[in-house]
Amino acid sequence: MTPAKRKITVLPGDGIGPEVVEAALAIIQATGAAVEFEKCEAGARAFQKGIVTGIPKETIQSIERTKVVLKGPLETPIGHGNRSANVTLRTLFETYGNIRPVRELPGVQTAFTGRQLDIVIVRENIEDLYAGIEYMQTPGVAESLKLISREGCEKIVKLAFAFAIAEGRKAVHCATKANILKLTEGLLQHTFEELAPQYPSITSKHILIDNAAHQLAMRPEQFDVIVTTNMNGDILSDLTSGLTGGLGFAPSANIGNDVSIFEAVHGSAPDIAGKNKANPTALVLSGAMMLRHIGEGKAANDVEQAVLVTLEGGLRTSDMIGVDKPATTTEFTQAVISNLGKTSKLSPPKQYTKVDLPSSRPGVNVVEANARKLNGVDIYIESDLEPKALASELDKLATSSPLKLEMITNRGAVVFPASERKVSLVDHYRCRFVQRDPASKLSDAEIVSLLGAVGGNYRWMHVEKLQEFDGEKAYSKSQV
Ligand code: NAD
Repeated sequence: MTPAKRKITVLPGDGIGPEVVEAALAIIQATGAAVEFEKCEAGARAFQKGIVTGIPKETIQSIERTKVVLKGPLETPIGHGNRSANVTLRTLFETYGNIRPVRELPGVQTAFTGRQLDIVIVRENIEDLYAGIEYMQTPGVAESLKLISREGCEKIVKLAFAFAIAEGRKAVHCATKANILKLTEGLLQHTFEELAPQYPSITSKHILIDNAAHQLAMRPEQFDVIVTTNMNGDILSDLTSGLTGGLGFAPSANIGNDVSIFEAVHGSAPDIAGKNKANPTALVLSGAMMLRHIGEGKAANDVEQAVLVTLEGGLRTSDMIGVDKPATTTEFTQAVISNLGKTSKLSPPKQYTKVDLPSSRPGVNVVEANARKLNGVDIYIESDLEPKALASELDKLATSSPLKLEMITNRGAVVFPASERKVSLVDHYRCRFVQRDPASKLSDAEIVSLLGAVGGNYRWMHVEKLQEFDGEKAYSKSQV
């Protein structure tokens, strides 16, 4: 009896999506891999039908069944009302880890040709600013919440090391902005430094994200795997794809506990859609990552090698530098199919083992603190008063409270007590109240009572408790 074929949900997507997805499917089918495709709708057509998420119910059901998706790019409609179908997919199936590998490809001319770049960005994919929790706090001041969890950091760090081991890689850098964002970006740095010793075969190093960008432009060959937060990873991975030939060559995997989604880094390229001009390499290499993920390692190697051999043979698509007679998407695809079974002279297949994916813990993940203390509260208010006048008013409102005004900041800069700095003010203040007697116990009721007094006179829009966990202040100090 022939073994059952592994079902894959395929989302052709928008713009050049159907063209590059067709190319990948033809190549995968020609490898003889035991896979079967279920094509489903998502993106522009679904939005046009009034499905606000861009992902129809039938598509979700197919993904729940198959657990593996090969997808083309999905357009994000500009304007209000519709969400990004890409973000919906990532969140719905909690694909927490975005793996974006790039490497030097034969014949793909770049500023770094000959330096054998082979870099993987492992990007946290669901937390951080991309959760998109935003508010207009006043008519003129916007806020975005950057939430980073210990659980999210652990999973992405473990995934980065597991991926490095599976690919026989030597080093993992953790790139953060922990010098400024000590609590959020710092949580990834600390988690990385805590977990790294569990992987003694891999060299580990923390690097600041801005330096990482600089080093990637100057000496990119020093990097192997880079693990980073969501937004940093989004930006860095476009940078690394630029180092190796551009978006047409950059594949990616979105790894989840249950479902994994494989797609090119590029978008729907509306400027070249339907013209048989798109470079299918990124989607084809995403297909190879998918094949490896489902245990079709030989087919994955065959696809990668056939792409390399095709490029070595000099075939070029229109997006490549120095091309005068570009191949069409179909010609390129046919060439890859005819090169299946051949081995690249410059980049023979690598050895891979299965990625030991971090397991997910069921239920609510709790990080315990043995001791907690409440020190005060930050109240965000809207006011057109100058800081000194505002402080005097707030002092009066807090006379009967166990809390006293400690400082006021405007866009992060201390404006009370008076600072030497000249700050251009907006009508949005953070007012920090702390205990008059730090040894006493502060209650929620006392905070609410102060909020009532302040709120009776000013519009407030946000309140943040000042807590201490195990003797450590759980809030940032002011930026003087
Ligand atoms: P894009 O990646 O679609 O295009 C940027 C440029 O790169 C264009 O000039 C395009 O022609 C070129 N390009 C991209 N892929 C190519 C390929 N395979 N071959 C040859 N040239 C290629 O970025 P954009 O224009 O900013 O976005 C267009 C749409 O795609 C937007 O609606 C955006 O939201 C969406 N998008 C989707 C995804 C996704 O589904 N994962 C990712 C990025 C953007």
